Order: sequence, then C-alpha cells, then structure tokens
Amino acid sequence: MIPYVTDSPDIRIPDSLLPADGRFGAGPSKVRPEAVEALAAASGTYLGTSHRQKTVKNVVGSLRTGLASLFSLPDGYEVVLGNGGTTCFWDAATFGLIETRSQHLSFGEFSSKFAAASAAAPHLDEPEIITSDVGTHPLPVARDGVDLYALTHNETSTGVMMPILRPEGAALPADGGGLVAVDATSGAGGLHVDPSEFDAYYFAPQKCFGSDGGLWVALLSPAAVERIGSIAATGRWVPASMDLTIALDNSRLDQTYNTPALATLFLFDDQVRWFNDNGGMEFSTGRSDRSAEILYTWADNSDFATPFVMREQDRSHVIGTIDFDDTIDAAQVAKILRANGIVDTEPYRKLGRNQLRIAMFPAIDPEDVAALCACITHVVGALGQ
Ligand SMILES: *Cc1c(COP(=O)(O)O)cnc(C)c1O
Repeated sequence: MIPYVTDSPDIRIPDSLLPADGRFGAGPSKVRPEAVEALAAASGTYLGTSHRQKTVKNVVGSLRTGLASLFSLPDGYEVVLGNGGTTCFWDAATFGLIETRSQHLSFGEFSSKFAAASAAAPHLDEPEIITSDVGTHPLPVARDGVDLYALTHNETSTGVMMPILRPEGAALPADGGGLVAVDATSGAGGLHVDPSEFDAYYFAPQKCFGSDGGLWVALLSPAAVERIGSIAATGRWVPASMDLTIALDNSRLDQTYNTPALATLFLFDDQVRWFNDNGGMEFSTGRSDRSAEILYTWADNSDFATPFVMREQDRSHVIGTIDFDDTIDAAQVAKILRANGIVDTEPYRKLGRNQLRIAMFPAIDPEDVAALCACITHVVGALGQ
C-alpha cells in the first residue's frame, strides 16, 4: 500500500507554474475578487441596512429575476429562497414537499442525507432508496405511490454527475405523477439542465455561484408550488422556519422570513449577473466544460493519475476526482500543494481513496486548472527524485 508520510518534504513549486488563484475547493469555493470589490464599494450604503427596505430587497429581486433568466424558467416557475442552506431545504422538503412517500437515488454522502431525512420523518411512509456503487449513479424508476423523486445533479463527494430527466414512463405531476426534486447544490450554474424535467431544483450559493453558505434557493414548477399549498391545507404541523408556504410568501416580496446574510446575497447576485452579462448558461457551463476537458485529458495522459469515475459521461464537469497510483501518496501531494498556496484539493474524507478532488466551478479559470495539472506533475516528479 501507500507509504503514508506525515512529514512533507519542502518542495517549492516554481512561480511560473502556479495558478493565478489557488482555490480549488468544493465549497466554500473561489469567490471572484471582482465580486468582493463590488461588495466593498457598495458596503457603505448596503451592509448594515434593513433587509425589509428597498436597498436589500432590490438585490433579492435582481437575484430572483437573474436566476429565472439564467435557467430560462418557463412561465409559472418561481424562485424561492430561505435561510439555512441545502441541508435545511431537505428538512423543509420533508415537511412541505413530500406528501407520503419519496424515492431517493443514493450514490454518495450528500444524496444519502436527504434519503435519511425523509426516512426519519414520522409523518411519512418509508422512502424507497435506490443505491449504486460510489463512482456511479442509479436511475429513478417510475413507481405508483411515489409522490417525489429525489435526484442529485452532481454528487460532490464522488465527482459523479447525472442527467436530469423525469423517470422513464412516469406521469407528469399534472397527471398524477410524482414531483422531481433535484439537489443541484454543486451542479447548478455549472451543468446544463432543462427546467421542464424538474419541479424543484435547489441549491446553495457557496459552489458554482461563488458566494457564501447559509442560504437555499429553490426553482419551483407550478406543480411544486401547488404541492406546497395542498400539504399546508392538510394542516400538517411545520415549524415556521421550515415552512415552505412562508418562504414562498416572503420570496414573492423579495424577502426572507428571517434575516439573511446580506454579503452572501450580494455576492450571489453579482455572480448571476456575471454569468448573464457574458452569455448566460452557455458561458458558465462552457467554463466548467473546458476545465473538465483539461483535467481529464491530463489524467488520461499521465502515467500516475486516473479519473476515479469510470464512465466518461458520468465524470463531473464541476468536481473532478482523480485517483493516484499506489506509489504516490495523494494526501502528501495535497499537503505540498497547500504549502504552495494551492488549497482544498484533498479528497472527500469519507470516501477514503488515494485521490485528489478538484473543483471546476465556473469562477475557476480553466487556465488555472491547466496550471494546477502542471503543478501536480511537478510535485510528483520532485517526490520521485
Ligand atoms: C455542499 C452540498 C450540500 C450541502 O450544502 P449546505 O448548504 O452546506 O447544506 C448538499 N448537497 C450537495 C450535492 C452539496 O454539494
């Protein structure tokens, strides 16, 4: 096995090889310096002001219309937001989006968590959980009695992406079929999606949206909005902070139920504007596509690194997982990279593989991904001396 070394040799990567920005973490991830500068410039009149007044509500309004435009949302779809990040949205969905029984695709750490939340809910029937080995993804199966299909666009723990499609043969929600709810926390903005294939596409802004954590956003179809209303009408008890009817009412007024982080909203809106001003989804996904091409081509051509995900079409364009030959300790490589200012390339801890995990969110420059590959090659070469 790998000779795991606790001490790292002092390897200095030449400046000429280093990326311009050394942040490759899966979240919180690189925040564009331009966005931080814009926040600093606006801070005197924006930060520290009431979230019930125009200055902040305008940012929320801009964010909501910006997202509707970025995702080309059809008429009737709504952009809803609330505090607590994706993890809180899972709980909110357990209260307010699942009627009786859900089906979950579980193929990594994150996708397993929503499944666990609905399994633990005393007011719901036992969910159906479809699993597959790490490094792959299962497909949803149309099933009578399932009122919500839970998909994950990008499994951040393994670097597997999957196409977002309604289960084959399932009726549309308008005809009595289940809703399709997608955890797109790390995929939204970096991977293509067709809104007609989902009813709830939810995420948080600390990944492709180059902002900070603590907020959730859900793009909801008319069927999802209707579901929220029909569950509320049954009188099911819901804590107010988890209540999607309250979140919906507040979002329609460009507010959140309780105080949001204003800096997070600002940086989020700035990133959506950056996407939209440069060509929208084609631009943002194009950057991730290019980075992925660079990373996987480098790994394929290297004699010590291999993409962890076997099927090419499953290899994520926003999170790359690269296995290393047994003769190289990937953890040590990550440590040396860190000492040289290249941070957060460590693998997802619970996966426990000899690999690096590299984010390729749209804010991350494809040129920097190319530089990172050169730096890894340099470090591995220096370790072998
Ligand atoms: C990061 C992540 C989460 C957790 O998001 P929080 O905002 O920290 O709750 C959930 N799902 C996926 C796919 C993620 O990548």
